[in-house]
Amino acid sequence: MSEKVTLVDPPSAGPVAHEDLSLLNEVSLCTPGDSHLEMCIQCGTCGGSCPSASAMDHTPRAIFAMLRAGMRDEVMKSNTPWMCVSCYYCTVRCPQDIHITDVMYTLKNMAIKSKMVQDSTASDFSRTFISYVKNYGRSFEIGLAGIQNATHLKLAARLPNMIPMALGMLTKKGMSPLPPKRIKGLDGLKKILDRAQELEAE
Ligand code: SF4
Ligand code: SF4
Repeated sequence: MSEKVTLVDPPSAGPVAHEDLSLLNEVSLCTPGDSHLEMCIQCGTCGGSCPSASAMDHTPRAIFAMLRAGMRDEVMKSNTPWMCVSCYYCTVRCPQDIHITDVMYTLKNMAIKSKMVQDSTASDFSRTFISYVKNYGRSFEIGLAGIQNATHLKLAARLPNMIPMALGMLTKKGMSPLPPKRIKGLDGLKKILDRAQELEAE
């Protein structure tokens, strides 16, 4: 797949000695393990491999160049991390072993914390998904889609969009209009999720 999204070139950073890598380092430190983020050689393999690249306003490669250039606002407002579907394809193909998918999670967290998320559609979806997993130990697709559409679709668009979607989901085997049964060991799962959220907040 060729990379279609235009790279937003970072402003000329001048001699390397004057580069301000504080944003890049901050992102790297907030990412679990060694992200190797500083090793990016701008080869574009990640963007060329990404199934979501056409929906992103900047490719992962461009985002990493913008981090290096200290373009905090542009990165925090970008939809790129939110369009990432965590397929890890870029991560396994990156010649520099950069933990691209994990960096996308870091950028989402930073954008939420800095209140710079431009479009809350994806972050609300993520929150609703987690609340279902916490309550039932699994997702509830129909509830998730219903809440998401009710929250983010304009009134006039709700019914025309929701009815075909609901019918399609209900006719799929295994999809029930009723909330799912709670899994065994839900308390243990909740503890894991609570601990993960505590670690994320630290
Ligand atoms: S594949 Fe790796 S080295 Fe190449 S641009 Fe993407 S992150 Fe950088
Ligand atoms: S993990 Fe995210 S950024 Fe990487 S290829 Fe998949 S969707 Fe694209």
